[in-house]
Amino acid sequence: MANELILIVEDNEKNRKLVRDVLQFKGYQTLESESAEEGIRLAREKKPALILMDFHLPGMNGIEAFKVLRADPQTSSIPIVAVTASAMTEDRQKIIAAGFDGLQTKPINVKEFLEAVAQTLKKPRGTA
Ligand code: MN
Repeated sequence: MANELILIVEDNEKNRKLVRDVLQFKGYQTLESESAEEGIRLAREKKPALILMDFHLPGMNGIEAFKVLRADPQTSSIPIVAVTASAMTEDRQKIIAAGFDGLQTKPINVKEFLEAVAQTLKKPRGTA
């Protein structure tokens, strides 16, 4: 059953709404944050099954947040998928090098996005 809790960290309201609507339509529960700092707090408190992490955020960026979450035993096993604009080749390289559990490009392709979410939730972290 697709009822897992997913944390969306995204500062753009339109993007956040699209991702939320698509996930809720599929039956997932969602939590949202507009900043990495708040996202980290929510991750520690709510222990989501998956985190979708934007790269460009108002304070700490997505990679910095990823490192904080991985370094914390409370959140280190939560899969984290980066969501970033396709044109940013340099960002993509940084994201891949950092070791994210996946990478989705904005604007999202709804079908591929949902498949990637389901796949990531199915497999234990670190077996990509
Ligand atoms: Mn952003």
